[in-house]
Amino acid sequence: MHLIAPTLVGNEHARQYLRLLIERETARGSFLFVGPEGVGKRAVARAFGRALQCAATPDRRPCGTCGLCRAWNHGTNPDALIVRRAADHAAIRLEQIRPTANGTTPAQDTVHRRLQLRSVVGPRQVVIIEDADRLNDAAASALLKTLEEPRGDTILILTTSALDAVPRTVRSRCTLVYFHRVPTAVIRDALRLERRLTTPERELIASLADGRPDIAHDLAHSPERLAGELDAFATLLRTLQGSTQRPFGLSEAVLPTDRKASGPVATATFRRLALIVHDVLMVTTGAPSLIRLKRFRVALERLAAGLPEQPLHQLADFVSTLPALLDQNVSPKNILDRFTNQFAAHAHPR
Ligand SMILES: [Zn+2]
Repeated sequence: MHLIAPTLVGNEHARQYLRLLIERETARGSFLFVGPEGVGKRAVARAFGRALQCAATPDRRPCGTCGLCRAWNHGTNPDALIVRRAADHAAIRLEQIRPTANGTTPAQDTVHRRLQLRSVVGPRQVVIIEDADRLNDAAASALLKTLEEPRGDTILILTTSALDAVPRTVRSRCTLVYFHRVPTAVIRDALRLERRLTTPERELIASLADGRPDIAHDLAHSPERLAGELDAFATLLRTLQGSTQRPFGLSEAVLPTDRKASGPVATATFRRLALIVHDVLMVTTGAPSLIRLKRFRVALERLAAGLPEQPLHQLADFVSTLPALLDQNVSPKNILDRFTNQFAAHAHPR
């Protein structure tokens, strides 16, 4: 697939596999794209959807210029449906999968109805369901019916960053395509296309993105977000430094008072904490050249001075489990307090 979205970098294996399906015209049934948040699953799902409908010869799909590709880009392709959790709902609901008596989703925008329809302009209907781990039970079982009896020419593409939270019955009926974090050097090279940025800026953004092209893209296009990201790291480092005195300092410092907004903030915070713990570990093990947050080197060294190496490995393991806690409905505050607790227990402040 061509580089038609700025976040389509890395994960060559997945893209190559999908490209072959397009070129041989052998894509059938349902796909589940699995991998961490921000690595480009959504962008690739859209590119794959475009390619499945594109009017160009197979080797040129998606061409980006035919009427069908342009309709995708403008969100006006009548044969494409993208289903995602509404911002004010915790889950993807039944009414998004099939029409319900009290539902507010237009019937033609439900998955069931869409798959019953003949395609209007392209060769087939394509339905993308983002964050399939967020399907509520009723929605998942309604979707299952669709997966069990796929229509030959329709394609479903599901994405998730939490495979374990996708019902086993749904998973088992999909072709799994795995995505991984992208090497920092690959992201840095991709940022060369951003001519406004200086080399140190590209270096900085690639390291802050920590393997996630979506984040790199965001930071590259918004000086405010970049400044906000740097602020967020500075706040975390400062708060962790004082964590033995203030067991709730971290959650107080980063979580917004609006509880609904705290989930995404917590997710971003977990990602940042993982990067900080990685870098502190690099200092402690005598490999400071491998620090990713070079800009914060002094603060990282100060933190590392209080931490022995062995518990840091445990802390690195622990930090990788934080997103799963959020999926188990543990509150963001509770998770961050647990982290602070673990961190402070190992710190020997000077
Ligand atoms: Zn096209």
